[in-house]
Amino acid sequence: MSDKSGIAWTNSTWNPVTGCTKVSAGCKHCYAERDWTRLGVNPKAADYFGRAFTDVQTHAHRLDQPLRWRRPRRIFVNSMSDLFHDRVPDLFIDQVLAIMMLSPQHTFQVLTKRPERMRAYLADPWLYDRVLEAANNIRRAHPKIRLDEVPVDNPTTGFARHIWWGVSVENQETADARLPILLETPAAVRWVSLEPLLGPVDLEKGLGPNPTAKIAWVVCGGESGPGARVFRVEWAREILRQCRAADVPFFMKQMGAAFNDGRFTLRLRHRAGADPGEWPEDLRVREYPRQMNDTMRRMARLTDSERREILSNARIKGRLHVPD
Ligand code: SF4
Repeated sequence: MSDKSGIAWTNSTWNPVTGCTKVSAGCKHCYAERDWTRLGVNPKAADYFGRAFTDVQTHAHRLDQPLRWRRPRRIFVNSMSDLFHDRVPDLFIDQVLAIMMLSPQHTFQVLTKRPERMRAYLADPWLYDRVLEAANNIRRAHPKIRLDEVPVDNPTTGFARHIWWGVSVENQETADARLPILLETPAAVRWVSLEPLLGPVDLEKGLGPNPTAKIAWVVCGGESGPGARVFRVEWAREILRQCRAADVPFFMKQMGAAFNDGRFTLRLRHRAGADPGEWPEDLRVREYPRQMNDTMRRMARLTDSERREILSNARIKGRLHVPD
């Protein structure tokens, strides 16, 4: 788990699960696996040391981290794994979801390449009972954090807007396979990450016409790291055009390490091509979903004393609870 993240669209990463196995072409140069080569040989990185990347493990001791982060932030769930990997038990995902429900001051960004399991998990009619039980266990385990009055809504009837459920796709084939499943997933906020984008993608093919109501956010990016595959500027422009046509917020994350500007394939000064100052001007677009957690949006504009006042008022009203 990390207090700060280099990923431009998030503030922090939270990894209650680590380790993964590859599922499609987008996994070839997996960022998490690359990072693992460093962590797996570092005795100080106790949760990684001596393990293979394919050894998927859950870490109960990391679960309560978001409860301890006081300031609202965007949190990327499992940058070092896939929450819906088949070796992660449902009961553990229940605990992850319970923590998210008990932390409405944050915005959680879940991303998977296994949308079938995400759909099945979120559509399960018993989900509310399970998450409620997990939430009650967490409340008992953290009496000092005052979670007793934080409501846990029924996830099957109108999902919490501070949890964004997304799928990662890299080409037309994976878009066609994964996007329809995402659309069938019960969620208030759905999003798509096109990174590393490996070819042109027609989103409408997977989303159908007028995807505005169905998809809240599209992120786009090229591949970074050694052996990065080419990322063509026209692919990004086409995704941006589709987002504009459908009124879907677009976030250009990075051009990658092999950026083709229409004439040449270049390595930009920023090694991941993540400095917007080096991009064509029309692609310097970094938008967020309109459903972005209102609390968070408001808090970002406040001074520390205003923020403290709002939080203490919210506690009194029993609407929002954060640790002291
Ligand atoms: S699903 Fe994600 S974390 Fe897992 S191997 Fe693929 S890219 Fe890496």
